[in-house]
This record gives sequence, C-alpha cells and structure tokens, in this order.
Amino acid sequence: MNILVTGASRGIGKEIALSLEGNILATSRNEGALRIYHNFCVCDLTRDLDKLGRYIQENKIDVLINNAGDYIYSPIEDVDYDKIERIVKTNLEAPLYLISKAVPYMKQNRWGRIINIGSISGVMGEACASIYSASKAGLIGATKALALELAEFGITVNTINPGWVETEMGNKSAEDSEFSKDEIIDCIPQKRFITPKEIAGMVKYLISDDAKGVTGQSINLCAGLSVGY
Ligand code: NDP
Repeated sequence: MNILVTGASRGIGKEIALSLEGNILATSRNEGALRIYHNFCVCDLTRDLDKLGRYIQENKIDVLINNAGDYIYSPIEDVDYDKIERIVKTNLEAPLYLISKAVPYMKQNRWGRIINIGSISGVMGEACASIYSASKAGLIGATKALALELAEFGITVNTINPGWVETEMGNKSAEDSEFSKDEIIDCIPQKRFITPKEIAGMVKYLISDDAKGVTGQSINLCAGLSVGY
C-alpha cells in the first residue's frame, strides 16, 4: 500500500508516517528531516505543487494524508495578503490539488483513503486565528462533497480535527496566544493536550477495513474541547 504523508518532517505527520505499515512516501520542505524515509519528495506547498503532483501520479497513491499545515495568530487587521495566501495555500488549496492528482489512480483501483488533518478551530472558530479557522473549515466542506463524489469508487474521505496537540505548532500557538499553557489546559475538559500518537491511531483506524463505512466525517479528536466547558 502506497501512503503519502504531507508534513512528515516533524510533529503529527512524522508520528503518522512512522507508525503506519506500508510504503511511506513523505513530503515537506526540509530535506534533512525527510532522509529517515526511503522515498520522499521535497516540496513547499505554497510553491512547487506541480512537482508533488507529478510525484503522486508516478507513485500510485492508495492513501493520501493531508497533514501539513501552517498557523498564524493575529488580529484580522494585522493580517496582510501574503499571510492570507500562505495559510490558505498550505491548508486548503494544496490538499485539494493533491487530492485531484491522487484520485484518478484510486478510482481505477476502486479503493482509496483520503484523510485530512483539520483542526477544532475549523469547527468552533478561534479568535485571532480567522484565516487558519477558515482554511480548516474549508477542508470539512470539501470532505463532505468529495465523500459523496467518490463513494461509488470505494474511496473514503474524512477529516480529523485535533484540539491542542503536543507538538512544535501546539506549543508555539499556546506561546503566541494571550494565555499561558496552564490556562489553556484548564479550559480543556480532559485537562491535557492530545498526543500525536492518538492522531496516528485514528488515521490507522480510518485506513482499516473496519472503517470502510466511515466517510464524509469530520472527527473531533480534542479531549472534549468541542462540547463545552
Ligand atoms: P508542526 O508545525 O509541528 O508541523 C507542521 C508540518 O507541516 C511540518 O512537517 C512542516 O514541514 C509542514 N509544512 C508547513 N508548511 C509547509 C509548506 N509550506 N510546505 C510544505 N510543508 C509544510 O505542526 P503539527 O504537527 O502540530 O500539525 C500537523 C497538522 O495538525 C497541521 O495541519 C495542523 O494545522 C494540525 N493541527 C495541529 C494542532 C496542534 O495543536 N499542534 C491542533 C489542530 C490541528 P517543514 O517545515 O519541514 O516543511
């Protein structure tokens, strides 16, 4: 099984890539970090998408995991166009483009799994993260539409929405916010950050045959954050 993981250089993507069984194809901007994999493609999702598109077509991808993501914490009036473009390209445009390149082979094979890593911020909204929230909400819309479009071909499409996760991005966004990490933890019903391993476990399940009936879903993996305080 050929599995492409975007953002495999660190954090959640690295955990996913290292925990799955199959032929892992990894991508990110950081060649040094990708050398732990046998097969990788260095690509900036805001720039050289054609290169990654060709890599997908050449490698007959059975499972596409759109994990790479970028975040900014900023009041809307301080966001310039370049930042909007960077976040939307990385979090929404690139996943859609990569799906478009992966689907022809999946359709032909009448089997496929597309798993997007969204965010609870795309479900609930996050103050001072409107661009990020919008990009992640877009993934949920695309997931529902694609699940309908691809159901008859044995392809499932789902989005996992993590809450706060113990990674570089999770810790940096906590630092950038006006709250301390302890104050953030206090607002999470389970009083903890999610681990990358828990996200990888959900990915593993969504790939498995047990999950063949799960499609078009937006799955909140957030230690209870989405249901109230
Ligand atoms: P990290 O910042 O630790 O890792 C982000 C990954 O995305 C890196 O591998 C990075 O690769 C890659 N990436 C970012 N921008 C680009 C780009 N322009 N081109 C190519 N690759 C890029 O984040 P996490 O592991 O925490 O996040 C993974 C996913 O989970 C993201 O989609 C994020 O939005 C989501 N998420 C994370 C949460 C958290 O609290 N951590 C909460 C909710 C959702 P490199 O820099 O090597 O190019």
